[in-house]
Amino acid sequence: MRLDAPITQDVLTLPRKLAEGGKRNLVGLTRAQMADALVAMGTPEKQAKMRVGQIWQWIYHWGAQDFEVMTNLAKGYRAQLAEQFEISRPEIVTRQISEDGTRKYLLRIAGGHEVEAVYIPEESRGTLCISSQVGCTLTCSFCHTGTQKLVRNLTAAEIVGQVLVARDDLGEWPIPGAPKDETRLVSNVVLMGMGEPLYNFDNVRDGMKVVMDNEGLSISRRRITLSTSGVVPEIARTASEIGCLLAISFHATTDEVRDKLVPINKRWNIKTLLDVLRDYPRLSNSERITFEYVMLKDVNDSDADARRLVKLIAGIPAKINLIPFNEWPGAPYQRSDWARIEAFSDIVHKAGYASPIRTPRGEDIMAACGQLKSATERGRMSRAEIAAQAGG
Ligand code: SAH
Ligand code: SF4
Repeated sequence: MRLDAPITQDVLTLPRKLAEGGKRNLVGLTRAQMADALVAMGTPEKQAKMRVGQIWQWIYHWGAQDFEVMTNLAKGYRAQLAEQFEISRPEIVTRQISEDGTRKYLLRIAGGHEVEAVYIPEESRGTLCISSQVGCTLTCSFCHTGTQKLVRNLTAAEIVGQVLVARDDLGEWPIPGAPKDETRLVSNVVLMGMGEPLYNFDNVRDGMKVVMDNEGLSISRRRITLSTSGVVPEIARTASEIGCLLAISFHATTDEVRDKLVPINKRWNIKTLLDVLRDYPRLSNSERITFEYVMLKDVNDSDADARRLVKLIAGIPAKINLIPFNEWPGAPYQRSDWARIEAFSDIVHKAGYASPIRTPRGEDIMAACGQLKSATERGRMSRAEIAAQAGG
């Protein structure tokens, strides 16, 4: 389905696909892992690399969901594959489409857990925001996800699966023989959904390697942005092992305020974080880092904050993304006034940094950053607990 058709708000509940028990999912395996799995099944070692190439193309280029369609593999071999493996994705529980075309998916994964992914269409690109964990171990006081305890890390299959599900739903797989469509619906991926991606490093890395692979989904590392609250020891590895763009949830210009907003700051403070960030663009061969800054009324939005911010990041190639706070029921903060956000943006801009104000998208379906939260109530903190963490 293309997005140029007028879309009205709809809520769709799709039929559940029954999980086939006990089979290993090929989605999310690295090429080496897939080769090992095929050899273990009896594929001669000499052939494994070629078979991986064939299967890989079916899964990630054509969007195949079963082995039957893999016509360049012998019938017997396809049957053998089907006996041992599956090609499965998270299942869509509900899909909501906003008036502005934003799509929010609630996805069910093994164990009955739920995570969200959001597709945001723009004029010349489409961005898919994906989750890396169910819940989050961190407790940023302005974030809805932070009120939910960590349930578990997503597997590489579940991380890649979110991209596959979006392409299925958008009808974006190529049709054999049809002229090549150069416009991509899912052209960019951001790890800005639920969870802290750097606390699930290996699965995020493996998943992104699959997403970047040229013979499959082929989304370049410059079109993938990983957002972290500031897990300092993993940042250099992100540069060397993933090489994607980096966004930092900065949000404050003094340790005192950042300790309250982003409590991981108590472990790695602003100076420690900035020191490691200075090396990132060179190590990852990327141009600049995005500093995310949520605008909270009377908390972090003064002119003095804006001036301190540009001083702190001096020397780091950067863009500052100002995010009007997305309020959620019970949140202990308010969104800064529009005039205040613009004044803040002006100061940053005059200092030579791009300082776009993120337009709220999909507000009617609560699809914005920080509002993603599964329907799972388990582990939810009380309002009093949130307020206590926020410093009362
Ligand atoms: N855990 C990672 C990625 C997920 S959060 C991180 O913290 O960076 C993605 C972005 O949304 C972060 O910048 C986060 O600080 C921001 N965010 C969270 N809650 C928000 C809210 N209620 N309003 C606006 N932005 C929010
Ligand atoms: Fe976790 Fe990011 Fe939310 Fe902080 S902002 S609680 S790190 S998801």
